[in-house]
Amino acid sequence: MTPQLPSRTDVLVVGAGPCGLAAALSLHKHGCTNLTVVDSQLASEHTSRAVAVHAATLDALDEVIAAQCIVDSGVKATGGKVWDGYRFQPWADFSVLEGHTKFPFLLFVPQHVVERVLGEGVHERGIAVYRSTKVVNLVPSELELGMIDVFFEDGQVVQTLYVVGADGTKSTVRTMTGISYTDPDGENTPDEAVELGVIADVTFNVHPTKRTEPLMVLPSGNFFVCIPLPSSSYEGQEVWRIACGVPTGVPPHAPPTEFLQGLVDAYGPGSIPPSARESPKRLEITKTIWSSRFITHSAVAATPFTRLRTPSGRPSGAVILIGDAAHKHPPTGGQGMNLGLRDAAFLGPVLAEHVRHSAQLTSPEECMELDAPLKAWAQQRHERALNVIRSTKASLSRMSCSDEVVWCWGVVPVNWMRVRDFIMWLMNVTGVARRIVPWELSGLMNR
Ligand SMILES: Cc1cc2nc3c(=O)[nH]c(=O)nc-3n(C[C@H](O)[C@H](O)[C@H](O)COP(=O)(O)OP(=O)(O)OC[C@H]3O[C@@H](n4cnc5c(N)ncnc54)[C@H](O)[C@@H]3O)c2cc1C
Repeated sequence: MTPQLPSRTDVLVVGAGPCGLAAALSLHKHGCTNLTVVDSQLASEHTSRAVAVHAATLDALDEVIAAQCIVDSGVKATGGKVWDGYRFQPWADFSVLEGHTKFPFLLFVPQHVVERVLGEGVHERGIAVYRSTKVVNLVPSELELGMIDVFFEDGQVVQTLYVVGADGTKSTVRTMTGISYTDPDGENTPDEAVELGVIADVTFNVHPTKRTEPLMVLPSGNFFVCIPLPSSSYEGQEVWRIACGVPTGVPPHAPPTEFLQGLVDAYGPGSIPPSARESPKRLEITKTIWSSRFITHSAVAATPFTRLRTPSGRPSGAVILIGDAAHKHPPTGGQGMNLGLRDAAFLGPVLAEHVRHSAQLTSPEECMELDAPLKAWAQQRHERALNVIRSTKASLSRMSCSDEVVWCWGVVPVNWMRVRDFIMWLMNVTGVARRIVPWELSGLMNR
């Protein structure tokens, strides 16, 4: 049995993932209370997925809900180290962010914990969330000008002025609105970086690195990342997120321990000489709690804001896209959920203001005249998404350079991995990397 939906709402948020929940909280905070959240799933997911929450995201969330609740559930990393095949190099010093954010660190916390905190906030504020309700289509309303009819799988219809599509990469809202979702560099751009990879939450027999210190290994043509996760989320167990490219072949759907152990040995901390490791013992995975695979494709919606039009060309309700529905990109730097949460947090004040002013107007044309702030929000979020796609693609290429000589312009022999390692070393000895990396990752320059 699916729940009885309201026949009408000012704002319909489709998707109760992290971005939909954050959008609902932000709208509510700014006075928009006639809003409804729907989600096709019976319950929110209980897997860790995105584990990095950056300073700019915590700052933005703190405006809509006490971000400290999320911080208290996570591991604060203030630095990290990279093994470049010869030596460890310090990777970042997040204390450089002090004075620029309330949260000068990189927080590691499983996505389901973030969703739980946001979900509790939504519940406390009495915002209606209807689960097991799947949107299948949306069209300009025939009954009331300026409204959108949203159709559900079970035959129910909800009329709304605004649809916020927070329904993930395969967004029905985006598809039914006819907004394209493509790689800004073209779908067939040759990409030298690894395309497929795996992520897993595992326990080890010994610590691969300190419990507050992420570790990165950069072997030829690949990367391996090892991140400490909060033991409070795993019944006291010391769990690590590992992420690694799979340069050849297709990884299984939920990679088993043996497959993951092979990657640890070939590309990960297992490949570091025992004398340089945290413990000289062989590093063994003792349990795989969750595992998945990923693909490093990118896409951005042509626009995150548009208005539907009636067959006669008159403007109708507004459609807004946030989160994965608006953009996807390689997982390097763990930016995906962060960018989406900031889309949501910054949408609230703009959309709530629009709802407030449109209530006094009678025609959709008049409402459209108020669209400038929404368009400005959309343009800014689109630019932010393009920046993240650009930077995550570039860092994936840098991280997975091959230790081979290639001929540039047919005459100059270059080994890009050696060049990268030299630049990394230079940036480290001068202290530049430790200052730049936190700024790049934190999102503070691309809020
Ligand atoms: C296996 C996996 C691993 C990941 N690992 C990482 C990682 O390591 N680092 C990282 O940064 N990111 C990672 N991500 C991505 C990260 O999870 C997303 O960026 C984040 O969840 C985006 O949030 P969202 O709210 O936009 O979308 P989602 O979390 O996808 O939520 C969309 C919601 O919309 C609902 N929905 C969909 N269609 C409909 C419909 N038609 N009607 C009603 N409801 C609908 C869905 O049920 C879902 O609850 C991973 C994702 C997956 C799947």
